[in-house]
Amino acid sequence: MRVAMFLCVFVFTVFGIGGRAFASANTREFKVGDVVVWAIADSLGERDMSVFIGLDPEVQKQYAPSGKSPSAIMAFLVKTKSETILIDVGMNGLFPAGLAEISADVTKIFITHMHGDHINGLVKDGKKVFNGAKVLASVREREFWLDEKSVEKFPDRKAGLDSARAIMGLYGSDALSFEYGDIVARGDDFELKAIDAHGHTPGHTVFMLTSAGERLLFWADLSHAASLQFPRPDINATYDMNPEEAAKARLHFMDMAATEKLTIAGVHLPFPGVGTVEKADSGYIYKTR
Ligand SMILES: [Zn+2]
Repeated sequence: MRVAMFLCVFVFTVFGIGGRAFASANTREFKVGDVVVWAIADSLGERDMSVFIGLDPEVQKQYAPSGKSPSAIMAFLVKTKSETILIDVGMNGLFPAGLAEISADVTKIFITHMHGDHINGLVKDGKKVFNGAKVLASVREREFWLDEKSVEKFPDRKAGLDSARAIMGLYGSDALSFEYGDIVARGDDFELKAIDAHGHTPGHTVFMLTSAGERLLFWADLSHAASLQFPRPDINATYDMNPEEAAKARLHFMDMAATEKLTIAGVHLPFPGVGTVEKADSGYIYKTR
């Protein structure tokens, strides 16, 4: 995804974490059971419809008449009794006014996949940002992005592959992996499970947070334009590295979210990136919370 598509808007709010207050770009705080989740906008903007593969002009007119759909780059912070967890880190450097304070508190960073808009915020000026944190991605995702031979299959991804290798290299032995199905973090008050959502990338992962009987599904990049892809989950973006598998995963999780009445939190859902899914006559409808 290109930065140029996004207009950066900074509305500063102050909130506290670990007893510290700090200022951040657009944030929204909400609770899932006993834990607190912050939705943090790295940038806000609109998704241009030209990124959707084979999009019929009539379909575009129906679901995105202006040729654009509201979107964002979000990351999510989960504060539990024992841990401060980030799900992705954006690409532009989150928490512009309080980065030093928050970065010291983060214990684990779960990466849904290794596209730049999800991992570039791990590094600033060539240095690690989160010195006390482990950075975890699925085994399949790590294998793909860290394998020097992957460029042979995806020559147009060379820059992203080189960058992912460099970023993970900086984290050294703190860059780790998990298997799909693993409970990747847990405490008295929460559990976080990694779930297979491959297709967008080879090891794309969504995460289910459970706390005191409530659940939140971190949606990652199952969709890139809510107004278009919820009614038409069959439509893929050029970012979907295996379009057929990406569409399968999108449909599976939309159906699951609607059937199980889940709240979802997506990186490219319109701010605050949190909402619910309902079945409709055609496909699904996304409702911002
Ligand atoms: Zn993305």
